[in-house]
Parts: sequence; C-alpha cells; structure tokens
Amino acid sequence: MTADSSRRRALVTGGAGGVGAACARSLAAQGAYVIVADRDASGAAAVAAEVGGESWAIDLTDTAELESLTLDVDILVNNAGIQSISPIEDFDPAAFRLIMTVMLEAPFLLIRAALPHMYEQGFGRIINMSSVHGLRASPFKSAYVAAKHGLEGLSKVTAREGGAHGVTSNCVNPGYVRTALVEGQIAEQAARHGISEAQVLADVMLAKNAIKRLIEPQEVAGLVAWLASDQATMVTGASYVMDGGWTT
Ligand code: NAD
Repeated sequence: MTADSSRRRALVTGGAGGVGAACARSLAAQGAYVIVADRDASGAAAVAAEVGGESWAIDLTDTAELESLTLDVDILVNNAGIQSISPIEDFDPAAFRLIMTVMLEAPFLLIRAALPHMYEQGFGRIINMSSVHGLRASPFKSAYVAAKHGLEGLSKVTAREGGAHGVTSNCVNPGYVRTALVEGQIAEQAARHGISEAQVLADVMLAKNAIKRLIEPQEVAGLVAWLASDQATMVTGASYVMDGGWTT
C-alpha cells in the first residue's frame, strides 16, 4: 500500500503492542498514514493491517542500520521501551547498555534521520514517550530512569533546533499504563516482595496516585494525537504528565 501524498506520514516505534499500538490507532483515526515499527514483525504487521498502514520489522539495537537511514515521515513517535529492575550494585552492565541503546540512542538516530525531510517541508512533529521516570527517580530503575532523563534532554534540544523549521518536539510522561511491560513488573515485584499482584498494584504502583487506577493505553495515545495535530503548533520543548496525580 502506498500513502496518499496529502496524508501525514507517521512512524511509531514499538507499535506492535501496548502504548505504541494505541498511538498507531489514534494517529490513523486522525488521518495519518502510519508505519508501525517493531522488532515483533508479526505484531507490527497485524497493527499495520488494522490501521491501513505498513509495518517495518526493525530491532532498534541495530544502530548501524539506523545511522545510515533517511526517513520521510512528518510525525515520529519514539515509543519503544524496555525495563530491567535491579539495585545498582547488581545491575548487569549489558542490560544497562541495552536500555540506553533502545530508549536513548535509537531515538537520537531516528530524529537525526527524520529532521532533514521535516526541515525541508517546514513541518514536523517529534513525540518522545518518556515517563514520570523522565522527571522523578525510583529505586532499582537506574538504566530506565537515566535513559528517560536523557530522552527529556534530547527532546528539548530537538525543540530548540527545530523551532525555526516548523518542527516541534515534546515528551509524554505517563504513570503506570495497563500494558505487557507493566503486567511483567507487577508479577516480578509480587515475587520479589512475596505479596500478591493486587497488593503490588495498590501498595507499590498506585500508592502515590490521587486516582487509583492504571492508565489505559488509548488515554496516552489521545495526548500523542493532540501533540501531532495542528492545534499543538505552539507546544514544544514540553513534557506532558499523565499520571493520575503520582508526581503531585
Ligand atoms: P510494551 O512492552 O507493551 O511495548 C513495547 C514495544 O516495544 C513492544 O512491542 C516491543 O516489541 C517493542 N520493542 C522493545 N524493544 C525493541 C527493540 N529493540 N526494537 C524494536 N522494538 C522494540 O511497552 P509499553 O508499556 O507499551 O511501553 C511503551 C513506551 O511507554 C515505553 O517507552 C515505556 O517506557 C513507556 N511508558 C510505559 C509506561 C507503562 O506503565 N506501561 C509508563 C510510562 C512510560
């Protein structure tokens, strides 16, 4: 399938599931032609078929491929992410590097590949899926918190450089969202602390929340779609928290 040239082209990384799949759906509902990028080739193909877009089977640790890339997309959603939890003194250095590659270096390389086309046409939207952990720390998440804080800096520099070219760059900062990534953490923490999964949710994950529930992926995707829209032209260098009051 080829894109109609009047439609905006959006690339969503980690689009095979969770928040990324929801973003693919909401951007497509807003009229965009969506390229669903993920290392999960069949998952990406399924979401692409659902939204009438295309899939791109890519492992974002393949930085050599990303370095030589040029992208002709109008909207880039840097969403793919992973998690690894351990005290710093036990943190596997390879796991730390993997998180930094997928969640900071790959977004940099994709932004780098997308900006020339965006600058040429005087329009672009970079949306970086950060987290409350881009703004706050939690124990045992050194790599994740460091990568997300780095992504916040990258997003702000992109905003500074892109402003004169019609390119905005923003972060979205969710609290806990109901996805596979969080379901994995709930199970892991229940085993680690010897408590039930319901207790992990109530006493650990939602303890600081004003609104005591997980965020739904489509709620985050609604914010992403707004940031990609013409209404958000003056929004850049910002970080939009959606956390049920977690950080207040
Ligand atoms: P998820 O695990 O449901 O989906 C992540 C997707 O990224 C998967 O489809 C996976 O295949 C893909 N991916 C992982 N590594 C990849 C790689 N090397 N190359 C290509 N694709 C890769 O996760 P999610 O919860 O939807 O998280 C999406 C983003 O939202 C992440 O950046 C995460 O940090 C952020 N976030 C999530 C939450 C949450 O509570 N779920 C909260 C705040 C921020």
